[in-house]
Amino acid sequence: MTHHLMNTYGRLPVAFTHGVGCRVFDEHGKAYLDVMAGVAVNTLGHGHPRLVQALSEQVGRLMHASNLYRIREAEELSDKLAALAAMDEVFFCNSGCEANEAAIKLARLYGHTVLGIEQPAVIVMEHAFHGRTLATLSATGNRKVQAGFEPLVSGFVRIPFDDLAAVEQVAAHNPNVVAVLFEPVQGEGGIHAAHHPFMRALREICTRKQWLFMVDEVQCGIGRTGIWFAHQHTDIRPDVMTLAKGLGAGVPIGACLAAGPAAGIFKPGSHGSTFGGNPLACRAALTTLAVMNDDRLVERAGALGRRLRDSLAAALGGVPGVVEVRGSGLMIGIELDRACGEIVTRALDKGLLVNVTAERVIRLLPPLVMSDAEADELVAGLVPVVRDFLGAPA
Ligand code: PLP
Repeated sequence: MTHHLMNTYGRLPVAFTHGVGCRVFDEHGKAYLDVMAGVAVNTLGHGHPRLVQALSEQVGRLMHASNLYRIREAEELSDKLAALAAMDEVFFCNSGCEANEAAIKLARLYGHTVLGIEQPAVIVMEHAFHGRTLATLSATGNRKVQAGFEPLVSGFVRIPFDDLAAVEQVAAHNPNVVAVLFEPVQGEGGIHAAHHPFMRALREICTRKQWLFMVDEVQCGIGRTGIWFAHQHTDIRPDVMTLAKGLGAGVPIGACLAAGPAAGIFKPGSHGSTFGGNPLACRAALTTLAVMNDDRLVERAGALGRRLRDSLAAALGGVPGVVEVRGSGLMIGIELDRACGEIVTRALDKGLLVNVTAERVIRLLPPLVMSDAEADELVAGLVPVVRDFLGAPA
């Protein structure tokens, strides 16, 4: 190690200098097709002219002011998000884990103040990923993320993902539950979508039991699954929704939205963030939403996702070792029957940025601006890499 970065990441030996659209370039000038979007962040790809212009102007005008004062950009963004999600109010922060911290704090405060429960508990799911702070890693359903950081934060009850009987079981026996927190499409867990009947039934249980129905849409929100927010594939409305990643298209911003019984729980002094919702971050999000709206990128994510999944399934279905091609919109997983982390470096060599999660799932999270030609290029480049890895050359 010649530098002073803490050794928290297994980094690939490549550094990018710039990007244009879905293409990024390394220090040697080699081009890569970006099929990761910085883990679902670069919604508009790289160097989008409208985002560049809006941010340049905002940097020159006002970057930060503090939540001690009114922030017009945050007010405007809260209205836009509330309208898109049919929610009532928004708290801004800087990342996904912070958005989930806000949700967990909100659920506890709701438990104490509305339900009169002294030891409030939140139901969370196996294979969930909610972040790396102490509370959110405790909510996360992955021992690797938790190991070594015990004692974990208490107050979470874990059940299998997408399992209604398990919810009913907890409902019958645990009087301390105040909320359920889950990802409508698990990202880090391997691209698994909750079934719609499960979500509807869970919504009904939450309403009946006065539990808050809280969705973590940090990865699956902001148009990625072909609808603004993944839970909107059903007709339900959550009480709490968390966002981050794609919202600022590269500028850090997170949000915790609340509706119905969850609205009005936080009061002045309940929660806060120095940077949360500053003018620069909010300008990034406002511009992202405007471009998505004008260029119909949400519909585009749905259509391109179907095209990609169909092409990948046609090319890889039946190849021994390929378990399934699945996903929702531009959140795509190719599950293999074996650990396949090596695919990442093999694809990198070929100029493709992909990722592997849950050990056996190749994860594709392209920018929403990817063209049909780039999608075809992705399939043409990735399929031989996968076949070769599996020992099934074309
Ligand atoms: N929630 C989900 C569903 C995520 O996928 C992630 C990050 O991958 C997080 C929360 C944590 O977000 P952050 O890394 O911005 O804290």
